Amino acid sequence: MKLTNLTLPNRAGRFDLVITGAMITSVLPHDPRVHGDGRDLEGRMIWPCPVDLHTHLDKGHVTPRQANPDGSFGGALDAVHADQARWTRADVVVRMKFGLECALVHGTRAIRTHLDSMGPLRNCTWPAFAELREAWSGRIALQAVCLVPAEFYEGPDGEDLARMVAEHGGLLGGFPLMGPEIDRQLRRLFDLAGRHGLDVDLHVDENLNPDAQVLDRVARTVRETGFAGQVVCGHCCSLAVQEEAVAFATLDRVAEAGIALVSLPMCNLYLQDRASGRTPRARGITLVHEARARGIPVAFGSDNTRDPFYAYGDLDGVELFREAVRIAHLDHPLDGWLDAVTAVPAALMGMPSPLEPGRPADFVILEGRSFSEVLSRPQARRQVVRHGRVLDLALPSYELLDPIVGDPA
Ligand SMILES: [Zn+2]
Repeated sequence: MKLTNLTLPNRAGRFDLVITGAMITSVLPHDPRVHGDGRDLEGRMIWPCPVDLHTHLDKGHVTPRQANPDGSFGGALDAVHADQARWTRADVVVRMKFGLECALVHGTRAIRTHLDSMGPLRNCTWPAFAELREAWSGRIALQAVCLVPAEFYEGPDGEDLARMVAEHGGLLGGFPLMGPEIDRQLRRLFDLAGRHGLDVDLHVDENLNPDAQVLDRVARTVRETGFAGQVVCGHCCSLAVQEEAVAFATLDRVAEAGIALVSLPMCNLYLQDRASGRTPRARGITLVHEARARGIPVAFGSDNTRDPFYAYGDLDGVELFREAVRIAHLDHPLDGWLDAVTAVPAALMGMPSPLEPGRPADFVILEGRSFSEVLSRPQARRQVVRHGRVLDLALPSYELLDPIVGDPA
């Protein structure tokens, strides 16, 4: 297959792409004399398939079965806790699969999901994940992170959970909270991760309390312990409300420790600074420009989808990037920020960046010749190319979920 006269992100001019089987075999400046027999994209942009570094496939799509009563963080915790009484392996598989089908149609090629792993929950979330990782191999590459409170690792089951995560090839995660025990809890967590050969991906400072400085404690712990694995910290909202000197000192330590950040802008807008009857003032997203300026890898993720933590969302990497651009002022110039939903999360998931000769032909053909054109329309008629072929799939109908989550009416 030849695609001619197309636009690549962050590269001037038009290009011609030759695909042989499932691989890209050449990317050359557009020359109608050489590639005039290819399919003319008339200048349309192609993007590498997005990679979603932070999701919660196990919680997804429980709306309307268990809504958040007021959209608050506390409301989300209570609602998910109540919903978990209904979680079985079969229930989790149906909802996870629905999320994967949406993501595939939108063009996503890899997803890292957190999995609630407290007590008996792990006996349905992890087997469901393992089943789908196998079934979806070749379509969406999947990684999983266990999600528990940090103090869990100090208890008798901490070692068992780390061992189980290692057996699944997962990552160690959790949501450490600021408090007198934080350093001891983090040391235990990183000790377990080191002994079991696990990378770490944490929920950090998902609030607007300036005294929440878990990110700084994680950076110090990584330096002090010499932890050699990958460390990703998600959210880090409180950086946005700290004095700049404090926040920047933390970011300096994060850069020194080699920690990557993942921002979840849509979920942050939904949950942060919410109070009934009051207009939100704060956006809640972390300091992505200041982090990237320090050489910290910065990715954006979807986080939750149609569950009590976020009432919307469809695991659409194009929507995620469009929203991130607007929420975080990634534009003027856009200058490589597309990497935050493609190359950066791909590297963190151990996958090569595509759109080079010798790489898989996995990309999205968008409706527009520039970021301005692409980001101004919903991209409902984008074309997704996987393994060198245009996908011919439609988004799954919500009606498929009615038997397990109920009728929206
Ligand atoms: Zn999350």
